[in-house]
Amino acid sequence: MIVVGLTGRIGSGKSTVANLFAALHVPIVDADVIAEQITNQATIKQAIKAYFGNNIIDRQGQLRRQQLRTIIFANPHQKLWLEQLLQPLILQAIPPILNSLTAAYCVVVIPLLVETGPHSFLNRILVINTPLSDCLQRAAIRDNSSIKAIQQIIRTQATTKQRLAQATEVIDNNGSKAELATKIQHLHNYYVKISQQAG
Ligand code: ADP
Repeated sequence: MIVVGLTGRIGSGKSTVANLFAALHVPIVDADVIAEQITNQATIKQAIKAYFGNNIIDRQGQLRRQQLRTIIFANPHQKLWLEQLLQPLILQAIPPILNSLTAAYCVVVIPLLVETGPHSFLNRILVINTPLSDCLQRAAIRDNSSIKAIQQIIRTQATTKQRLAQATEVIDNNGSKAELATKIQHLHNYYVKISQQAG
């Protein structure tokens, strides 16, 4: 099975692209979903509580995810701390999931793929390349955050140049969502073709 790593900066359209692949029946492994599972573990919750304060855990012992999101989106350094805690655990969890899949190819969404790589479990790297102004506006609206906060997060992430240097495929998300869907359909055909050649 060919394993495609999907990445791009915040607001570039990774989730949108992952949904388009999913609609084509491609299995999706999402680092953010794994992160959510990991943060349910008692030891991880404890570490988060020690750093962010008791108030981050509710009376039922559950993580206040919305509160945590608000805090880290306003504080890039705290976001970085959380990422450094979770990324190694997320990356460890991915290969066993891949082993359980049967498909021609699958897509693994890793927002910090370039920052945390190289990853031996990936065969291809798909970069979503989106104009900075679109990323800023879309992420700010989606996360109910400010443009300034998104700018700060982008500063902690890899540069476009670093990302493109790692890419085996690049999708320019510089048009409508319909145009994006057409590009993903073409790319899907390509991945099916190369997985047939490989297998
Ligand atoms: P990421 O997962 O990379 O942070 P998303 O897929 O969540 O980015 O996209 C960010 C926002 O931009 C979402 O609200 C999404 O619906 C929107 N979006 C993505 N691509 C386009 C596009 N081509 N045209 C308009 N809106 C888009």
